Amino acid sequence: MTVLASGSKGNSAVVSTDRTHILVDAGLSCRELLRRLAVAGEDPGTLSAILITHEHQDHVAGLGVLARRLGIPVFLTEPTHRAWVRMLTPRSTMTYAQWLDRFAIEKAEKERALVAAATVPTYAPLGPAPADIAADLEAIAAISVEAAIFDPALNAPLLAVADIPDEPCELTATKPGETSAKSSLTPSKIDPTYLPAVEYFHSGTGFTIGDIDVCPFTIPHDAADPCGFVFSNMGIRFGLATDLGYMPPNVKSALRDVDLLLLESNHDLEMLKDGPYPWSVKQRVLSRVGHLSNFAAAEFLERDYDGCAHTIILGHLSESNNVPELARIAAEHAVGDRMRLLGNRIVLAQQHAPIDAITL
Ligand SMILES: [Zn+2]
Ligand SMILES: [Zn+2]
Repeated sequence: MTVLASGSKGNSAVVSTDRTHILVDAGLSCRELLRRLAVAGEDPGTLSAILITHEHQDHVAGLGVLARRLGIPVFLTEPTHRAWVRMLTPRSTMTYAQWLDRFAIEKAEKERALVAAATVPTYAPLGPAPADIAADLEAIAAISVEAAIFDPALNAPLLAVADIPDEPCELTATKPGETSAKSSLTPSKIDPTYLPAVEYFHSGTGFTIGDIDVCPFTIPHDAADPCGFVFSNMGIRFGLATDLGYMPPNVKSALRDVDLLLLESNHDLEMLKDGPYPWSVKQRVLSRVGHLSNFAAAEFLERDYDGCAHTIILGHLSESNNVPELARIAAEHAVGDRMRLLGNRIVLAQQHAPIDAITL
C-alpha cells in the first residue's frame, strides 16, 4: 500500500496484492497521478479499478480523465456519483433562479437545433446527435431540479468546471465516422462526466475487486454519501478513514483488528482557531461533519484503538492548521508503550510526494 498524496490539495492511495491494484481516490490531475504512480513504482496499466470515498474535489479532481485514459471501472456509491455529475455540470454553478433562466434559453436553442437538423442530412461526427443533446438536457434537468429541491446548498455557487484541472483524453474521443446509432445508446465519451464503467456499492455491504475484499463504512462528513474502507486479502486488513468530523461507533468497530491504518489527523485545534481560515470555514472543519483533529485522532488511538496495526499512517494533514510533528507527537503519545511491543510504527502521509510503499 502507498499514499500518493494526502491533504486538502489532493488525496490518492494505492492498495495492491500480487494480482489486484486499486486506486483509492483520484484527487490530483490525471497527469500528476500518473507521475506519482511512476514515482511509487506502480504501473498504471495494472490498475483494476478506482474507488472513491466521496465527491469532494480533493478526492476526485482527476477521476474522469484518469478513468477514461485507463479504461477502468469506478466504484462509488450512487449518491456520490450523482453529486460528482452535478459538480461537473455547469448549471450547478448558478443559483436555481439563474438555472431556470438558462434552461429556458437552452430549451429554445435545442428546439431551433432540432428544426435545423431536420433540414441538414448530416452533422459533425465529433459531437453528439441532436437527439442526444435533447436527452442529455432532459437528464441534466431532472438531476438539477431534484438537486435544487433537495440540496439548498446548490443555491450557492459551487466550484466552476473551469477550476478543475483536466487534460485532453485522446484515447476516448469519439472517432470520426462513428455512427450516431451507437452514440445515442451510450453517453458521449467527450462528456466530462463519462466514465468507462461505474459500479455502485453501499456502505455496510462488502464487495470484491479481484482478490481484495472491500468493506465500505459510513463516515460523518459533509458530502453526499462519504465512506471509509477496510480492504482485506489473505487475512491482512488495511483500514482507511479520513475526512470525518468525529469517530462514531461504527467507524471504531470497522477499524478493529487492522494491520495497517490510514487515519486522519487534520488539524491542531489551537492552530485552527488562531489560523487564517474565515470563521465559517473554521466552524465547518470543527463540526461533526468536518475533519478529525490531532486531538480526536489521538483520543481514538488512546481509548479505542486495539493496538494491532503494524503501521499507522496519519493523513489529510492541513498545511495551514497543522505541523507534522504535532500530529506525530500526539499520536505517539496516544499509542504509548504499544509502539514498542507490537509495531505501531507511525508514518506521516504527505501532500506533495508519495510515501514509501508499506508491504505486509
Ligand atoms: Zn472531504
Ligand atoms: Zn478531503
